[in-house]
Amino acid sequence: MRIDVFTLFPEVFEPYLNLSILARARERGLLDVHLYNIRDWTTDKHRTVDDEPYGGGGGMVMKPEPIFAAVEDVLGRPPRAPVILMTPQGRPFTQEVAWQLSRLPRIALIAGRYEGLDERVREHLVTDELSIGDYVLTGGELPALVVIDAVTRLLPGVLGDPDAPLKDSFSQGLLEHPHYTRPAVFRGWSVPEVLRSGDHARIARWRREQSLRRTWERRPDLLARAPLTPEDRAYLATLGWRERSKPASSASDAEAPESSTN
Ligand code: SAM
Repeated sequence: MRIDVFTLFPEVFEPYLNLSILARARERGLLDVHLYNIRDWTTDKHRTVDDEPYGGGGGMVMKPEPIFAAVEDVLGRPPRAPVILMTPQGRPFTQEVAWQLSRLPRIALIAGRYEGLDERVREHLVTDELSIGDYVLTGGELPALVVIDAVTRLLPGVLGDPDAPLKDSFSQGLLEHPHYTRPAVFRGWSVPEVLRSGDHARIARWRREQSLRRTWERRPDLLARAPLTPEDRAYLATLGWRERSKPASSASDAEAPESSTN
């Protein structure tokens, strides 16, 4: 997969992209990241990328010309791949969106700075807008890295265990079960006996129930859309979960648990 990133701070990306799984994905040609400094497409001697907002109000706004020039130079006109703006006003970036993006051969990400970009970039260049959460960061570099990271680990061949992403939180609509490793007893706290039993059917059932319990306690909204078996429903009912008769498209058809204790 190729990812083109347009930013004023390309140097932010390399240290993270050169670590661990992302570095290996790049070495093996599974991920091809190209970093572009928007400032390289300015034409004035001060290499100006921002200007004051029309209407006043303080802060600076990223000018449209260098952004259009950079993206069209690299991706053509019209752009040959989705052009995704990182913005707190975008649609929420979720694991489902990460899966969708991971199936594309190429995407471009634009990282904003200051008060954001001239609105004409959003209206006439950008094809999608993603937010990594309901908070405002100083720039779109971290959000772009978040997207690159989440998408890369879903690319075929990137993780040693091809099923690993399918077992992660959100991929099956639930939070994942807890994990333990050696030692079996640490400071008097023991690993659950079932995980040391060698009984694979029991372990699978325990993990499924832990996954359901965690989701119910922490993110009951997810249960509304999770694919649940009759056994799952019976187990959840013992925890106090009741299915509401709302349409499947509603945000949540489950009532929140009374306590978050485990
Ligand atoms: N004035 C903008 C607003 O209120 O919507 C926020 C601008 S923010 C200070 C500067 C840049 O950081 C944005 O253009 C965007 O690229 C990035 N950014 C900040 N928070 C983000 C978030 N939650 N998700 C994605 N990008 C974000």
